[in-house]
Amino acid sequence: MENIVILTGAGISAESGLKTFRDSDGLWEGYNIEDVATPEAWARNPQMVQQFYNERRKSVLEAQPNLAHFALAKLEEKYQVTIITQNIDDLHERAGSTNVVHLHGVITRSQSSLNPALTYPINGWEIKMGETCELGSQLRAHVVWFGEAVPMIETAARICSDADIFILVGTSLAVYPAAGLINYVPRQVTRYIIDPNIPVSSGSRVVEMPYKATIGVPMLVEELMG
Ligand code: NAD
Repeated sequence: MENIVILTGAGISAESGLKTFRDSDGLWEGYNIEDVATPEAWARNPQMVQQFYNERRKSVLEAQPNLAHFALAKLEEKYQVTIITQNIDDLHERAGSTNVVHLHGVITRSQSSLNPALTYPINGWEIKMGETCELGSQLRAHVVWFGEAVPMIETAARICSDADIFILVGTSLAVYPAAGLINYVPRQVTRYIIDPNIPVSSGSRVVEMPYKATIGVPMLVEELMG
C-alpha cells in the first residue's frame, strides 16, 4: 500500500467557517496573536486567554467538516494515510480520518498549565477559571502557543520522510517548525499543493493546484482513487 502524507493548515477549515490568520491580516478573530497565543499572554491575563480559546472552541463545535475533509478520509480505502495538521480543530477526525497527528494540539481537550503532557477531554465548550488538573494547576486549552515546544515535530518529520505521495493543503507555510516539514519529504516524491495562494516555489516534482480546498481536494482524491 502506498503511503500518503498530508500536511494541512487553517485553509482547509476556512470553508467550514473557521477563519485563517492570513485572511484576517495576521489577526486571529480580531486579536493580536501575542495577546492570546503566547505563554506571556497567559501570565499577563489568563482570564482573557481562557475566554479567547473558549470562544474558539464554541466555533469549532458548531462547525462541520467540509468536502475537503471528507475527501481526505476516503483516501484510506486505498492508501496508508497520515494527516499532519497544524489545525487545532477536530474536523479531520469528524470527517472519518483515523490517523491524524495534531502538531499544535486540539482545542477540544484541556491541558495542565504545569505539565503539558497531562491532557483531558472537555465537557462542552468551556474551561472555567478554577478548574484544575490532578497537580492542582489551572487547566488551559491543549494548544501549542508561539514560543512553546512542539512535542510532535520529530514524529511528524519521520512520517514525512516515509511518504510516497505528499499533499499540502491550505497552509501559508509561515509558521515554524511546521513549515520545515516539507524538507523531510524525499526528493523523488511528488508534492501536490492545494491553496489559492501557492506558498512555495515550484520544482519538477511539484503539482500546483491553486484552488480552494473544497474544489481542489476532491479533484485530486478522485484522480488518486481512479
Ligand atoms: P495561515 O492562516 O497562515 O494560512 C492559511 C492558508 O490557507 C493561506 O495560504 C491561504 O491562501 C489558504 N486558504 C485560505 N482559504 C482557503 C481555502 N478555502 N482553501 C484552501 N486554502 C485556503 O494558516 P496556517 O499556515 O495553518 O498557519 C497558521 C496557524 O494558525 C496554524 O498553526 C494553526 O494552528 C492556527 N490556526 C488554526 C485554525 C484551525 O484550527 N482551524 C484556524 C486559524 C489558525
